[in-house]
Amino acid sequence: MEAKFTSLYSGSDKNCLVLAYGRTNLLIDCGGSMKAIRERLTSLDMGLEDISALLITHDHIDHINALKTLVKNTDMKIYSSYGTHKAIYKSGIDMNPHRRIIAEANTVFDIGDIGVEPFATPHDAAEPFGYNFYCGEKTASVATDLGHIPQNFEHTVKGRDFLFLESNHDITLLNQTNRPYSLKKRILGEKGHLCNQISADFASGLALKGLKRLMLGHLSGDANNPPLAYRTAAETLERRGIKVREDILLGVAMRGTLSETVCF
Ligand SMILES: [Zn+2]
Ligand SMILES: [Zn+2]
Repeated sequence: MEAKFTSLYSGSDKNCLVLAYGRTNLLIDCGGSMKAIRERLTSLDMGLEDISALLITHDHIDHINALKTLVKNTDMKIYSSYGTHKAIYKSGIDMNPHRRIIAEANTVFDIGDIGVEPFATPHDAAEPFGYNFYCGEKTASVATDLGHIPQNFEHTVKGRDFLFLESNHDITLLNQTNRPYSLKKRILGEKGHLCNQISADFASGLALKGLKRLMLGHLSGDANNPPLAYRTAAETLERRGIKVREDILLGVAMRGTLSETVCF
């Protein structure tokens, strides 16, 4: 049985990902609108009623914009850290307690056919998580919104069949934007976002240890573009002797459109 991963869209403005395995379909984050999520799920022959649960990485708007509408119009269960649930509640989204499931970092639990293991990420949100997924023998990780690569982080996500990794910005392009200095400092900070080169360096280390499928995501609109993120990763991989397409499949999630579905 194959696991299938698709980004409905991903970027610094909105994020929503789907992982399907067996009878279980997980939505990871719900940025954008419910209408957009529904439309893109339709392209995958899926409806909101087919979603087994929603996992939230953190409480920033690009990851939870559709939450209020989803809470109102569906009965899906919503998993996140305690800190994220608390921040969501404080922002005025009040959900029935039976739908709100608090996940613990480094603790595996099952949602239908998929094992889920949250892990802490360094980011300026309440209590942000990335997720490891166990689909039978196959494994995947979603690691986005990372200010830096923490020590031992390789251990957290190594040996996966598929990795979705943030590749937010190119440092030169970011510095050329007319964003305020404080915002640039936040993005470049220890709890901000991962730049293309650090993402590429980290991914190539994982590829040397067997990573076979990589999708870059959460690209900035004005401080990055898909060909640049792809090229940075591809050149870094090739420099380390890893052949793109032969040794590793490399893709980039688009900000506005569905990605290819990665099967593993
Ligand atoms: Zn984000
Ligand atoms: Zn964020």
